[in-house]
Amino acid sequence: MGGILVYALHDGEGNFNKNSLGALSAASGLAGELGSEAAAVVVGDVSDEQAQALGNYGVAKVYRAKDVPEGLAQPIVDVMAKVIQDDGFSYALFGGGLLGFEIGAGLTARLDAGVTMEVTSVKVADGKLIAERPILQDSQIADVGYVGEPGIIIGRLNAFDIEEKGGTAEVVDVDVDLSEWSTKAEMIQRGEQRGADVDIEAADILVGGGRGLGSAEGFEACEQLADAFDNGAVAATRAVVDAGWYPYAAQIGQTGKTVAPKLYLAVGVSGAIQHKVGMQNSETIIAINKDPNAPIFEFSDLGVVGDLNKIMPKLTEALKARKG
Ligand SMILES: Cc1cc2nc3c(=O)[nH]c(=O)nc-3n(C[C@H](O)[C@H](O)[C@H](O)COP(=O)(O)OP(=O)(O)OC[C@H]3O[C@@H](n4cnc5c(N)ncnc54)[C@H](O)[C@@H]3O)c2cc1C
Repeated sequence: MGGILVYALHDGEGNFNKNSLGALSAASGLAGELGSEAAAVVVGDVSDEQAQALGNYGVAKVYRAKDVPEGLAQPIVDVMAKVIQDDGFSYALFGGGLLGFEIGAGLTARLDAGVTMEVTSVKVADGKLIAERPILQDSQIADVGYVGEPGIIIGRLNAFDIEEKGGTAEVVDVDVDLSEWSTKAEMIQRGEQRGADVDIEAADILVGGGRGLGSAEGFEACEQLADAFDNGAVAATRAVVDAGWYPYAAQIGQTGKTVAPKLYLAVGVSGAIQHKVGMQNSETIIAINKDPNAPIFEFSDLGVVGDLNKIMPKLTEALKARKG
């Protein structure tokens, strides 16, 4: 008992999602403390080698359901529910991301389990897992334990660090009879979002644009700056997406996405609390704002007081020159 089952999302070409790899790494460390084992679940087209390679993140076993489509929540709920019930796992852990939220919620309902979402850390106390979850707009942390089993833990984006531990996993193929309702949706096409809809959660560097950019055209300078970085993307405040200057997919904050890039460069962003809760876990925050009293400076590592129209193009030029 005490085992932890982790869902490992992949893109169909052998590339596993980095939040899933972080969850595998965390699960293997926690399982070690519990004296149990961590295992992964994969579905769809995953070769023996790709599945075995997940052992590098500390899992002993990989359950593979080859005939189950990747990317749809309900069939994966069927697979995970079966594995948890057949092999007696005590916990299911998901890295951050929308699909994990959907599967985790479905699994919770199916198994009449307890669930904690937006978890930023997990620890062991008295031989059980305790999920740490920020509450009250991230001003406090709640410790959440579980009554009965299994406990479902859904991480916040980038909550768990990837750790390569070496090793190869045993691959076990599982046959699952899908529920009737699990076959009602069909995956037509999977793809990667690019351009304005880029996957801001996966970017290492985010240039967050606010109303200070003045217009939709102002975002072109943001895009040029983001392109000058390696793995950079553009994010936005709610004020600008509401104004139609940039797509909703890029919105950061309470009613948008939560991100934790290596660098968050805020340009013309005031730093309202609703924006702050979506980006405050960034490793480094740099803000450019012409108002020295802008709230963003209160939680920035580096603040530049000045006109973004003058600073941004020079920064882009300097970065390009350095790259060149
Ligand atoms: C229920 C609720 C939910 C919300 N959810 C979200 C959310 O998820 N995400 C979110 O972002 N907001 C959210 N908001 C809105 C939030 O309260 C702010 O209104 C919004 O974040 C402000 O966006 P902004 O910083 O782009 O604009 P502003 O607050 O107008 O700030 C613009 C900044 O640009 C600076 N500036 C102007 N010109 C220049 C220049 N030339 N050079 C340099 N700096 C300049 C100004 O000094 C100012 O600080 C929510 C609000 C509510 C009530």
